[in-house]
Amino acid sequence: MAAAYSTQQKLEQLRKGKLTAAENVKEFLDVIKRKNRQVNAILHVNGNAVAEAEAVDKKIRIGKAGKLAGLAIVVKSNISVIGLPVSCASKTLENYYGTFDADAVAKIKAEDGIIIGMANMDEFACGSSGESSAFGPTDNPAAPGRIPGGTSSGSAAAVAAGMCDIALGSDTGGSIRNPASHCGVVGVKPSYGRVSRYGLVDMTMSFDQIGPLSNDVHGATLMMETIAGKSGNDAATIEKKVPAYTSILQKSAKGLRIGMCPEFEAMCTDKRIYKLIEDVAGKFAATTKSAIKKIKLPHVDLAIQAYYPIVYVEFFSGTRKFDGRKYGKKIEESCGEEVLRRILGGMEISRAEYHGTYYRKALKAKKLISEGFEKAFKDVDIIISPTTPMLPHKLGTKITDPRIMYAYDAYTIPANLAGICAGVVNAGKIEGIPVGLQVMAPAFKEELMLPVMAEIEKHSEKQSL
Ligand code: GLN
Repeated sequence: MAAAYSTQQKLEQLRKGKLTAAENVKEFLDVIKRKNRQVNAILHVNGNAVAEAEAVDKKIRIGKAGKLAGLAIVVKSNISVIGLPVSCASKTLENYYGTFDADAVAKIKAEDGIIIGMANMDEFACGSSGESSAFGPTDNPAAPGRIPGGTSSGSAAAVAAGMCDIALGSDTGGSIRNPASHCGVVGVKPSYGRVSRYGLVDMTMSFDQIGPLSNDVHGATLMMETIAGKSGNDAATIEKKVPAYTSILQKSAKGLRIGMCPEFEAMCTDKRIYKLIEDVAGKFAATTKSAIKKIKLPHVDLAIQAYYPIVYVEFFSGTRKFDGRKYGKKIEESCGEEVLRRILGGMEISRAEYHGTYYRKALKAKKLISEGFEKAFKDVDIIISPTTPMLPHKLGTKITDPRIMYAYDAYTIPANLAGICAGVVNAGKIEGIPVGLQVMAPAFKEELMLPVMAEIEKHSEKQSL
């Protein structure tokens, strides 16, 4: 499902007028028309997209356009775009339209990116497969008949199906990286506080981050450069200059210390995945004169158990505003099973807390895992791991035990608990199904992580088992 152009080539074409923004947008709208019935990645198309593209074309002609000029962007349905439905793929907010632009969206518009539609997703960003949307599951364009991964399922599938240039997703425990892996695209979860959450419907506000999905590392990097930075609307964002990530990308990563963690190997349900990741990491190390070191990440095997009590409690609290008075319907009366499980679970833990059994213990485990990363990053520059411990299941497979679904995020949740940045790039395929490699770097070290991803992107494509 390779894109016709790389992001850089596309931008060049647009800048030189060889391709107009309107043509670019129309081509994607056409793909959506042809493929969306099957893929179900897009919940809503922006009816003004072509007119907005024509306005951008005028700016390109007079040399006044921004750095995303003419690129077509799809936005996950939990990120507010003025005038477009922000349904969170739930019946609860089915008729809710954005009344303002999220900070990330405002920045995209300021750089002349064109929002062409809103993506399908797991309901309220709860899930790992893209199957919990109230508007039907999304198919995986890179492995038809299988889940695309979640919860930014529609965003990843839209990129993989050639329905947009770049998509925005959100990641609380893996929701950008997990679908990026399964759909064979690039996904970045920024460090906590790097990108403003203003305008993102909270899933778990102390973990949520908005981030990009793209066909190549350049596209994701360009989007990071656009959306990162301090915002007066989100106190968690920090006053730290956003480096020119795209120019740093040119300097290839060299002489790094790469951490790989034996605990991660033990957690890999499908050993072929670990082998593929090890092979690609080995090639990367050889070509960049980097060294692979074994590291210890204590308690990382407890990440899922630490994550869910915190998620349940914060999600329960965050959803109290959906009581049917101001926004849509009462959530408990209109949501699906997974959302209800979290609300009821969160209510129970908040009320009783069973003498510190769940929530406080979870916070302690979170702290220990964070400290483990801090210590590890004294010895290594980056950490490489798989993204998911297993291949995506077939759509429609009945999963009755939620713990099986939760297990998909065993490798991705630790980065959210620690607040560090993590990105996924395709490592190759197993049985024709894409497998993503995860690169983790210390908090606010995106400029270290992105060039590593760009280098790995060069090696990985042809690997298959
Ligand atoms: N699968 C995880 C969960 O359901 C992560 C979701 C996310 O990152 N939004 O909580």
